[in-house]
Amino acid sequence: MTFNKVLDNVNIYEAGKPIELVVREYGIGENDIIKLASNENPYGTCQTVVDAIARKACSSYVYPDDSMYELKEALASKFGVADKNVIIGAGSDQVIEFCVHGKCDANSKVLMAKTTFAMYEIYSKQTGATILKTPSDEHNLDEFREIYKKEGADIIFLCVPNNPLGECLDAAEVYKFLDEVDKDTLVILDGAYQEYAKYKDGAKEIVPSEVIAKYPNVIYLGTFSKAYALGGMRVGYGIASQEIITTLHKLRPPFNITTLSLEGAIEALKHEKYVEMCISKNFDEMKRYEEYATNKGFKYIPSYTNFITMYLDGYVSKEIAQKLLEKGVIVRDMTGYAFNAIRITIGTNEQNTKVFKVLDTILEK
Ligand SMILES: *Cc1c(COP(=O)(O)O)cnc(C)c1O
Repeated sequence: MTFNKVLDNVNIYEAGKPIELVVREYGIGENDIIKLASNENPYGTCQTVVDAIARKACSSYVYPDDSMYELKEALASKFGVADKNVIIGAGSDQVIEFCVHGKCDANSKVLMAKTTFAMYEIYSKQTGATILKTPSDEHNLDEFREIYKKEGADIIFLCVPNNPLGECLDAAEVYKFLDEVDKDTLVILDGAYQEYAKYKDGAKEIVPSEVIAKYPNVIYLGTFSKAYALGGMRVGYGIASQEIITTLHKLRPPFNITTLSLEGAIEALKHEKYVEMCISKNFDEMKRYEEYATNKGFKYIPSYTNFITMYLDGYVSKEIAQKLLEKGVIVRDMTGYAFNAIRITIGTNEQNTKVFKVLDTILEK
């Protein structure tokens, strides 16, 4: 059968391995598996959020509120914008998909950092667009400027902070860059880890209300999957000018967010203290990874997120990741990004202690 030719060029996204797979393939008990491969919040969903979702289950026979009034209201008030500036997606991933499909066709160009969130490239290639990447792995805005000046771009992705590397541009640098970009170029500021970044360093904080007041061509993306501990619920959002949001709505399938997901997200926004507690512990625990790496002589990338990317000089990262997997520790091998490194989500104190212990036994051999 012949398919849309552009798909010949599209890779299938490789998600972090699920716990279920490790149970099946290695016969390890579910409770002995530590999943630190997808940057979920290891402290779990806040109990009051779990209770609210459970209470809502009896409403599952009716379609969800497709206007998503309550969640939009809550987000609009949190960020100091209007409802009409907010769109909700099944994960911010879906909002990225709307953006790319709303803006690009086979003649388009999409500019991004060399080593960044894999879905940017996948969605872009689905439209047949050309991908432009900066030479440096990490975000270097001068490189973005140079390519943009020479080639132009229909979309520019800035991942602040960047997954899978963990580095983060300063907000002031980002704003200065936005000043220079043509108003017909859509700039996507992916803030999936902004909660972590701004906690660690106020200079990293992107303020969506300021961005959309000044830049009608920019969309800010946030998610409930990381700090808000609702990865399984698939809720994310975009904040932008009304023009962008209205256009993206043309691409949105009806009822794209389930009743339970909406309930979970609405409730999670009422428990910011819980989120703050998780973020604060995240950075306490990250220090242990930095010390561990230093003691072993491994370089790492200072991170503004809930994960750390550690180079494994003297070892082969793919082998180390596999050995960890066999012992029930799921991490992300970075060989696919041409890095001899692993990306580890920062776990709980107990999980991290076990990771170090298991790593010690693997590295000794
Ligand atoms: C996790 C992540 C997302 C989106 O996650 P969703 O679960 O789809 O909301 C977007 N961008 C980056 C960089 C991420 O790491």
